[in-house]
Amino acid sequence: MKILVSSCLLGQNVRYDGGNCFMNSSWIARLAASDQIVSLCPEVASGMSVPRAPIELKNGEVVDESGVVITEKFRSLVDNLEAFINDNSISMAIMKDKSPSCGVRQIYDGSFSGTLIEGQGLISKELAKYVPVFCENELYEAEKYWNTLKI
Ligand code: SF4
Repeated sequence: MKILVSSCLLGQNVRYDGGNCFMNSSWIARLAASDQIVSLCPEVASGMSVPRAPIELKNGEVVDESGVVITEKFRSLVDNLEAFINDNSISMAIMKDKSPSCGVRQIYDGSFSGTLIEGQGLISKELAKYVPVFCENELYEAEKYWNTLKI
């Protein structure tokens, strides 16, 4: 069993601005040391560069700042997500909240004005069809769920 984690939460510099959102967790560090963490940056996996222009979700579509819909860039990842989960023995995911790709509880509203709304990122929404998805603010709940899997 493994946990899928947003790459930027693991300290990888894959964010649109070239930075990361390192999540300091001894639990995650232990799992990583025993090869039970699978890293994924959906935007990089979909061919986007680092750094890159910011994107947001608007009415379920991925848009850039000029309003151009680029959802299609993610098509291959979405179509292959179930196989990716199965091939990597992924039982749950911890994804970066507020991201248009990884958001779990909140996303920006597509107006590029910094306005947050309730919602899931494109890939987290797909992931949730197959496995429980937590965000970085829910590590307590995530670890509790993980421990139920091991019983
Ligand atoms: S797409 Fe996800 S993993 Fe990649 S930088 Fe954004 S939040 Fe992090």
